[in-house]
Amino acid sequence: MLGRIDFFNRRNKRNENYNNTNEKEVEGNQLIISETEDDSVSLLDNTFKSFFKKYIEKYVSILGDLHVGIWVIDVTNHYRVLYCSPGIQKISGYARSQIESGKVKWADIIFSEDIHQYQKIQPLLFNRESINHQYRIVNANNEIVWIQDHTVPTFDDSGNVIRLSGIITDITEQKLAEEKIHFYAYYDFLTGLANRRLFEKEINKRLATYSFEQHFSVLYIDINRFKHIIETFGNKVGDMLIEKVAGILHRYKKQDGIVARIGGDQFAILLPMIHHIEYPVEVAKEIIAAMETPIVVEGYQINCTISIGISNYPTDGSEPDELLRNAEVALYRAKEQGKNHFQIFSSSMNVHTYKLFQLEKDLRQAIVRDEFILHYQPKVETKTEKMVGAEALIRWNHPDWGMVSPIDFISVAEEIGMINDIGDWVLRTVVQSIAEWKKQGLPVVPISINVSGQRFLKNDFSMIVKGVLDDTKVHPSLLELEITETSLMSNEMMITSTIESLKLLGIKISLDDFGTGFSSISYLRQFRSIHTIKFDRSFIQHVCENDYDASIVKSLIHLAHGLNMNVVAEGVETQGQLAFLRENKCDLIQGYYFSKPLPSDEFKKLLKKDMKLPLNQLKSTSHGENRRKFFRLELPKPVSSTMTVAKIKNQSVEMGKTNILIENMSAGGIRFLSNIRLPVREDILLKFYAEIMGQNLNVKGHIVWKLEQESGLYQYGVELDISEDEKEELVKTILKLELEINKE
Ligand code: C2E
Ligand code: MG
Ligand code: MG
Repeated sequence: MLGRIDFFNRRNKRNENYNNTNEKEVEGNQLIISETEDDSVSLLDNTFKSFFKKYIEKYVSILGDLHVGIWVIDVTNHYRVLYCSPGIQKISGYARSQIESGKVKWADIIFSEDIHQYQKIQPLLFNRESINHQYRIVNANNEIVWIQDHTVPTFDDSGNVIRLSGIITDITEQKLAEEKIHFYAYYDFLTGLANRRLFEKEINKRLATYSFEQHFSVLYIDINRFKHIIETFGNKVGDMLIEKVAGILHRYKKQDGIVARIGGDQFAILLPMIHHIEYPVEVAKEIIAAMETPIVVEGYQINCTISIGISNYPTDGSEPDELLRNAEVALYRAKEQGKNHFQIFSSSMNVHTYKLFQLEKDLRQAIVRDEFILHYQPKVETKTEKMVGAEALIRWNHPDWGMVSPIDFISVAEEIGMINDIGDWVLRTVVQSIAEWKKQGLPVVPISINVSGQRFLKNDFSMIVKGVLDDTKVHPSLLELEITETSLMSNEMMITSTIESLKLLGIKISLDDFGTGFSSISYLRQFRSIHTIKFDRSFIQHVCENDYDASIVKSLIHLAHGLNMNVVAEGVETQGQLAFLRENKCDLIQGYYFSKPLPSDEFKKLLKKDMKLPLNQLKSTSHGENRRKFFRLELPKPVSSTMTVAKIKNQSVEMGKTNILIENMSAGGIRFLSNIRLPVREDILLKFYAEIMGQNLNVKGHIVWKLEQESGLYQYGVELDISEDEKEELVKTILKLELEINKE
């Protein structure tokens, strides 16, 4: 408050001369009362003096030790400083005499950014109000000090302000603590970037002030396979990499934009639309280009790739949450396209992306919610056609998407670092089931489980396996592990030592999907601990028609036997394939010809029999095509059309279109082909758009049956959800189409 007085002094009494002031410099905690030789001294009236004596002197020794300063000024005598306690000197670093003499004016030491606010508040004192405010000063050492200033006016009988007295406190530490708290609440500790909370707050700020014409974009950035980087290089390198990436991204803070770390390896950039609509795309490209240079951390050169998803305000959302979510959806689409990609939301969300997005979101809860189940597919001895083993294959019973195949979620689990938890769940479940079946007196066969290459990167794997077997008292010979050729090749050293210790436990290891990687049988010679080679389905598929494939398989079986390895042929679907493999002494067969993977109850029934398998369950006939009520038009060849999901569980969703092939149609339904696995559910409403021979088709319906075709292709039967009028229209269209087709 002293400054306020000085402010008035500066304004009104610029030429005031205090040089005649007699200053009594008193060291320490003694009271200083400045007296002058002129009349102004009389202003310090008796009442005031006695007030000083009585109260202040009593406390002054205490005050001297505190970072609290007391001051009094006389309004009626040119705002002379009547008193300032030693605390003022401590806080400001200026001698009390300098302040009291007016040589140092308080207003002059107020931090330039705070002076305006400080001056604005002063007139309140003359309105009979006391004021309590905070501001910064620059002390004699040129340091910033935060001040809490409480000033109280004293009035004469006529109500005129005669004195101002106040107390100032150094609150710098408290302010720093507050800043720290604010920092932790709104900033990321590791990188110093804004955190998600601040990011959303900043979006909100713009939503409140921006007009609909003002655009901005949200870039959602994720480091590809970051979990993998951590598993390879460790957490410390991971953290340092995050810091480096943060540094690179920070360069893309444009104008009032903001760069934030919103999750472990996820960042977001709020980008004001500075030039034109393509601007966010240009920035995304620049970032991707910047990331192409390997990042050096602790001597490692890390090729760190990123994916970017972009959403735009206002087209892709009007809430922070929505904009971030949509940018994240776009990110998934970008990820799907491989390394270093970006994707814009509006063009990105089709059925496939939406599914991937939802699966990743829900995957973390799937174990807790008990949504995984295991199916068991028999392995059959070629000679005897008896089941001698089985493979446990995981499925995810997702609340919206039904039974989800591991092909759809294992790679997602690997990406987000969930694969080991899932793998451990499979291990425990399989071994516990074996123990239970044994208890029930069933003739149990060895069960193999698939182990992700990532599992071997942690050196506790063989210990965990041993622990589970010990706990359940299951003999190690009843458990087999399958690892893929690709994971073996990419982590050779680590995997070899784990395989050795697993072999010592008595567990057999198979090499899965042989033929999909680039290894040769001779390369496998070094992996003495591998017991079995499983030939991938792609090898077996064409052995009957393709001589080249047949001779490769023949010689591979021969070579494998030469290395003392057993051979399992995967994906055997036909009698012909079986005959070929039998003739060429392939040891075991696994495939739909004998059995599809079965739920554990059905598998148990199979164990009970004498294990000679029922033939071929390949063709499912249980779809509702025969219940057709309407004339069905077979199209001469499948027509390329598009489809989207309109509602899930009766909730509307918005997503882009996905390509499908329509095979036939009637007024009751359509049959189409897609490479996306969709659930058979009444409460998922699909929309179809097609233009067939100049006729537009625009209908809604839900899937009532599905049939897996050759690998990766699904055939679906759809029951249309359309009104009677629409049905009539459709009948007309179909008849027109039939005429067209017959003309051709
Ligand atoms: P995989 O280990 O090569 O398993 C064989 C896959 O081929 C299974 O697909 C099986 O259903 C399928 N299959 C078997 N016989 C035939 C046939 O005659 N015709 C056709 N078209 N397919 C056949 P699924 O169950 O979809 O599993 C796919 C892959 O997912 C597995 O390939 C495996 O790599 C992975 N996987 C499955 N369960 C697990 C698991 O518990 N952990 C890990 N890490 N991966 C798993
Ligand atoms: Mg397998
Ligand atoms: Mg396989």
